[in-house]
Amino acid sequence: MSQYWSAVVHGLTPYVPGEQPKLANLVKLNTNEHPYGPSPRAIDAIRAEASDALRLYPDPTAERLKNAIAVRHGITPRQVFVGNGSDEVLAHAFMALLKHDRPLRFPDISYSFYPVYCGLYGITFETVALDENLAIRPDDYLPNGDAAGGIIFPNPNAPTGRLLPLADIERIVAGNQQCVVVVDEAYVDFGGESAIALTARYPNLLVVQTFSKSRSLAGLRVGFAVGHPDLIEALDRVKDSFNSYPLDRLAIVGAVAAIEDEEYFERTCNAVIRTREQLIADLASLGFEVLPSAANFVFARHPARDAGELAAELRKQAIIVRHFRQPRIEQFLRITVGTDAQCGALIGALRKIL
Ligand code: PMP
Repeated sequence: MSQYWSAVVHGLTPYVPGEQPKLANLVKLNTNEHPYGPSPRAIDAIRAEASDALRLYPDPTAERLKNAIAVRHGITPRQVFVGNGSDEVLAHAFMALLKHDRPLRFPDISYSFYPVYCGLYGITFETVALDENLAIRPDDYLPNGDAAGGIIFPNPNAPTGRLLPLADIERIVAGNQQCVVVVDEAYVDFGGESAIALTARYPNLLVVQTFSKSRSLAGLRVGFAVGHPDLIEALDRVKDSFNSYPLDRLAIVGAVAAIEDEEYFERTCNAVIRTREQLIADLASLGFEVLPSAANFVFARHPARDAGELAAELRKQAIIVRHFRQPRIEQFLRITVGTDAQCGALIGALRKIL
């Protein structure tokens, strides 16, 4: 502890990101990256921009990217906010849109960054238990008594992979018009239906997406939010008070090219979905119970084997999966859907271990 730290820093419990091992030749299935590279058009665009142009500051409004996102989703650029990964977009939403005098509600098993942001911004929160099948119960988010200061959940949820149908999302948003509902759609492109269309009808809905998963650009750090222009203006105010240039020139051109390459996006996401279904079937044939997944990962447990031990055994064979030591889910492994070859290697290794 340093005498130079502020009181805020003393009180923080930071987020612990998934391991990014330095060793080559690992089968890395622990942080839900896309197994195929980004669109070649994105790489070409980044190469072209890596030039004398880097002398100049980027466009602080990232207008080209907002336009491209607006075209892709049938909305206007005034409904779009962009940031340095969806983590940063979420941080701005916590700062700009959540009430500080009433608790934020989110599922007890969910993205573990949410309580961290609450700590950072001094927001109180209440967690809402998942049901016995680790699914979100929409009724639990309808107000009965005290109104929430905001609601946030991923759809599909992380780390379970379970999807809430759009009709349930609409019920939650319609039933909580006194606060903002944030739907974190980091994994929606692998089988979910986006709630973006609902933003036209509900000014209290903010939908957050990322280029890190389905666009295979985790290394570029680009995320965005879609909502009513009034919500977007609040996010922009926070951004302009913090860092007017969240997206660098390479990120802007790379993300624009990626979102314009619809054919590559569909082909590579469909490949991941096909591999996921095979992986679920293969894990089931080894005796695993696997939750239904609409994401690029699966959540599975073996009734006879300790998940922590399985993860350690896999690591000895250079295969890395994620194990959470959290009550209710400590018997699960979260396995990113890799290539067919990577998933084949995982199944082969498990066959030997079990
Ligand atoms: N939301 C969820 C549910 C996630 O799992 C992640 C990835 N860890 C993020 C948001 C953040 O992703 P990024 O900052 O790379 O856009």
